[in-house]
Amino acid sequence: MPVDRGQFENGYRSASLGVWPCPRCKKGGLKVPNRWFLSGSNMDCPTGFALPINETRLAPTSFVALLQCDNDLCRFSVPVSGFQTHVDTENTVAFRLYVQYVSPAPAIIKLPPQTPAIVSDQIANANVLFWVDKAACMNRLRIVLEMLLDHLRIPKWQQSRTGKRRTRRTTHARIDLLAKKPRYAMLAKLLLAAKWIGNAGSHNEETSLTVDDVFDVFDLLEKVLIEVFDPSAPSPEKLAAIINKKKRPLGRDRTTIQLSRTSP
Ligand SMILES: [Zn+2]
Repeated sequence: MPVDRGQFENGYRSASLGVWPCPRCKKGGLKVPNRWFLSGSNMDCPTGFALPINETRLAPTSFVALLQCDNDLCRFSVPVSGFQTHVDTENTVAFRLYVQYVSPAPAIIKLPPQTPAIVSDQIANANVLFWVDKAACMNRLRIVLEMLLDHLRIPKWQQSRTGKRRTRRTTHARIDLLAKKPRYAMLAKLLLAAKWIGNAGSHNEETSLTVDDVFDVFDLLEKVLIEVFDPSAPSPEKLAAIINKKKRPLGRDRTTIQLSRTSP
């Protein structure tokens, strides 16, 4: 499922912060508490935030709060902090909340249960860094990309031309190797797209990274993670092809049709 971008777009119009999924039980939603702890004093405008002009006349104030999971069996608490701006309009003054830190952070993408801990830990870190530093978040996602290539047994090293020493393959070269395997050709395209975005983020190129660019990488990796770690899940493309051919729902035929990604 693609990232619900509206839920994770900073600059919340109210104290509701959207309904973030609970990072522990994955069933409940994190609810905003009744009380917010505002600093009461003004702070310097934080760097890295391009605030709309009508939010900059008054200095922002900082806040901290504890969110709580609404699942009665969980009730997990999550600290969150950031700053609040004052939105100048003609007749009223509204507020907008910007999150700078939340940990453990809500999951931006859903991982297949079979995802190895070494990979899911990196994604959990990327979820936290998303709020703190987008470039650092992107670096974590690049590590995930390399881990996926490791998992798919794409060699990291190659012999130098003289054959005397080993040299490390670039990520691009490894993705090219993956693309040569017909079964993984589509995955290679997704990973290559993620790599291009990651490059722009880490090299600070002219096109500075937008939040949507980061969401794009999460989307691309989510698709790859499902393909790699949950190959038995029905492929939407295959499902559509079969239904379109039959021109009717699968119904009871479902049990006799191979829908898995790994089936021929
Ligand atoms: Zn929970």
